[in-house]
Amino acid sequence: MRAPVVLKSSPLVALLSLLLLFLLQGGGSGPQESGSGSFSGLPPLAGPPPMQQVAGAEVLRGRTIVVDPGHGGVNRGARGLFGVQEKDVVLRIGLALRSLLEREGARVIMTREGDYLPGGSWERQLAARVELANRVGANLLVSIHADSNKPWYQGTTTYYLGNSSGGRRLAESVQRAVTAALGSQNRGIRAKSFYVLRHSRMPAVLVEVGFLSNPLEERRLADPGYQERAARGILQGIVNYLQ
Ligand SMILES: [Zn+2]
Repeated sequence: MRAPVVLKSSPLVALLSLLLLFLLQGGGSGPQESGSGSFSGLPPLAGPPPMQQVAGAEVLRGRTIVVDPGHGGVNRGARGLFGVQEKDVVLRIGLALRSLLEREGARVIMTREGDYLPGGSWERQLAARVELANRVGANLLVSIHADSNKPWYQGTTTYYLGNSSGGRRLAESVQRAVTAALGSQNRGIRAKSFYVLRHSRMPAVLVEVGFLSNPLEERRLADPGYQERAARGILQGIVNYLQ
C-alpha cells in the first residue's frame, strides 16, 4: 500500500520496495513448496506411526526372537532408482523391530546390527545367520528384505518353508499385520525354500516389505515413519502368531 507513494519519492527506495514485494509474493514460496521432500512429483507420504499399544504383547515376555536384516556390507541387495539400498532399509526396520520387541520384554538376537556381512564373507553369510538362530534356541526367526522386479510391481510378500506349519501360520500372521500397518498391496504368502528358512530349526519367515524397484515404494521404504510402521506390523504379526 505504501509502495506507490515510495515509488515517487526516490529511485533507490523504489527499487528496494520492488525487491521487497518480489520477496513477499514470489520469492518466499519456493522453499515452502520444496520442504516436504525431494521427490516432488510423487504423492505425499502418510503421517507418522500411531503410538498405540500392541494388543496382547505380554506373550512376548521371555521369548527369544531372532531378527535377521538381510544382506549387509558388500552385499547391498536391491537398489532403487534414487539409490536407496536394501541393506540400509532392512537394517533400520530390523533395529526398530528390536526396540519394539525389547520394550515388550522379548529377548532379541540380531544377525547383524550394522553395515557388515554376518560371518564375514559371502560364503558364510547365510550359514552364520542360521547357526546363530539355532544356537540361541530362538522361538522364531524373522528375516527382513525389500523386493526388486519390474518397476510397476508393488506390495508386501511373506515367504515360509513349505512343510513348516508353524512357519506358514507365522507367515500368514506377519503378512496380514504388515500390510495392515503399511496399507501396502497384499501379495500374499508364498512357500519357498530360502536357505535361512530351510536350515532354521524354529518357525521362520522372510518378509519382503516392499519393492525398491518401484520408485514410489522406494521413497516410502526410505522414510523413517514407514520403516517404523513396518516394524510395528511385524511386531503385531509375531504377537498374533504367539497368542
Ligand atoms: Zn534381499
